[in-house]
Amino acid sequence: MPDMLTIALSKGRILEETLPLLAQAGIEPAEDISRSRKLIFETTRPDVQLVVIRATDVPTYVQYGAADMGVAGKDVLMEHGAEGVYELMDLKISRCRLMTAAPVQAKPVQGRIKVATKFVNLAKRYYASQGIQADIIKLYGAMELAPLMGLADEIVDIVDTGNTLRANGLEPRALIAQISSRLVVNRASLKMKHTRIQPILDKLQLAVNELEAQRAASQKV
Ligand code: AMP
Repeated sequence: MPDMLTIALSKGRILEETLPLLAQAGIEPAEDISRSRKLIFETTRPDVQLVVIRATDVPTYVQYGAADMGVAGKDVLMEHGAEGVYELMDLKISRCRLMTAAPVQAKPVQGRIKVATKFVNLAKRYYASQGIQADIIKLYGAMELAPLMGLADEIVDIVDTGNTLRANGLEPRALIAQISSRLVVNRASLKMKHTRIQPILDKLQLAVNELEAQRAASQKV
């Protein structure tokens, strides 16, 4: 259906926090996403569908226009690069920090440092910006294991509570970036489907503002 507006959502934590915002923008999945193995979901709006995919694939779908809009973490967007997509809104959900981490009290490495991460491009840019010579080792998960096994001196990973690091004898070191989920839109879609996208953006911004106001109020209590 050529006139369909497709929104790509990242599976997991981001999905759970995005759905209430979308609901406030008048878009709700027609069935319970968590109970289905489907990847494409109809919504309460006949002209809007959701695709639920891995976070790292969201920028790719939006870049090539297979999805008009998407929601992905800033970490994933920084790793992917901004080609073909506009990052239009900070949804202020799924907040965490992108950090370097090393074994507790490990001495600074002399010379080249070995860094394990799934954020290869981002890590290369970060260490270069710090003037540190680094060999970046690509992993697909469980980065915390790499220093314990002697594969790497440091890791670059997402930190929320810090429990995962602590449980594996690691400690956070440098903050690379504060992370939250962002709304991205395909550049061509924004032009071609502007009259349908803009009202969704407006309602989402209201929902984000409301959520922030609720958070601020609950912190005062
Ligand atoms: P924590 O133990 O609370 O520091 O959580 C760290 C782990 O949870 C990391 O290894 C991440 O894979 C994952 N994680 C936490 N928050 C997020 C987030 N907002 N987005 C993606 N992954 C996250």
